[in-house]
Amino acid sequence: MATRDKPVPQAAPIASYRAARSRIDRAVARVLASGRYILGPEVEAFEREFAAYIGCRHAVGVASGTDALILALRALGLPPGTTVATASHTAVATVAAIELAGLAPLLLDIDPATYTLAPAAFERALAGGLRVGAAIAVHLYGQAADLGALLPLARRHGVKVIEDCAQSHGATLGGQRLGSFGDVACFSFYPTKNLGAFGDAGAVLTDDAARAARVRALREYGWRERYVSATPGMNSRLDPIQAAVLRVKLTGLDRANARRAALAARYDRGLANADLGLPQLRPGATHVFHQYVVRAKRRDDLRAALDRAGIGTAVHYPMPVHLQPAYAGRVALDPGGLGESERAAREVLSLPMFPELGAADIARVVGTIKASLCDAGT
Ligand SMILES: *Cc1c(COP(=O)(O)O)cnc(C)c1O
Repeated sequence: MATRDKPVPQAAPIASYRAARSRIDRAVARVLASGRYILGPEVEAFEREFAAYIGCRHAVGVASGTDALILALRALGLPPGTTVATASHTAVATVAAIELAGLAPLLLDIDPATYTLAPAAFERALAGGLRVGAAIAVHLYGQAADLGALLPLARRHGVKVIEDCAQSHGATLGGQRLGSFGDVACFSFYPTKNLGAFGDAGAVLTDDAARAARVRALREYGWRERYVSATPGMNSRLDPIQAAVLRVKLTGLDRANARRAALAARYDRGLANADLGLPQLRPGATHVFHQYVVRAKRRDDLRAALDRAGIGTAVHYPMPVHLQPAYAGRVALDPGGLGESERAAREVLSLPMFPELGAADIARVVGTIKASLCDAGT
């Protein structure tokens, strides 16, 4: 490490614990003392509070974001093997869930400005030979996918829309919270997410009571009543200890998102003249900066320079799903190619971003980036 400064991590979920420690400790102790360790009132209360926050009628707490996607897809009741379109530039969980639900992924290219599913690619796919039954719109990095274009296309072709909101808790489009636009929405509460538990957790949201009831049954063996399964299900329940933590953290989500946006504005100002691509905002949308992602031609050199200065970064994601060994040569692909997804994988870099980060940390990251780009340019 080149400086005496403390390292700056890329993310720090422990800082969110320290910031609300006594309330979180009390919430956890309340569950332990209650004797209710599976589902029960904490989970129900969180489901109500989170559904109200997003603006949906129903929320069902499940064990992870990946499970939320699997259960949401299963609850749509698509015939086995139905094609589900999504972006290749996403967490592998989005695509893994499609296959785990017995469906077939179709991986499409992204819009390079927002890193979200390109409406032109979706249109090409709908015009192609495959019958698409559903699409997963991923609101990547904390900003809305182009729902204004995607939803009418989907509706016209009878395609169900799932919102993957794992990175967009609290973000809006046209003043309305993401997660309330599609047929069903999936959230992850992985510890580093904008709303993070201290373990795995997730939720499925929908306005459709019958669909919510199907997810509720599927998360517990497909039970119609205790010990009697009406359909084959699984075990994917939200842990009440995590639900109690999430209830505390939900009360601070808007404040935490505002802090992320303020930090992003500092990065924007500091890096305005650097030879980097900065995050671009979709008109009418609020970005909650799950990640602050820049594009750099010599990304790996920049990353190494930051690492030498004790500054943590991450690459979300280093390989688009269609090139990963588990999927390459096997899943259906965008007929127009996936050039933008492949370019993003080479160029994106996620800078340190979490609400407890300080202004001085941002200044240090900015200074290190400028010095590194300057050296590279001479
Ligand atoms: C984190 C994430 C998931 C998976 O959530 P888990 O809770 O880790 O299973 C799915 N999609 C996206 C876009 C994610 O970022």
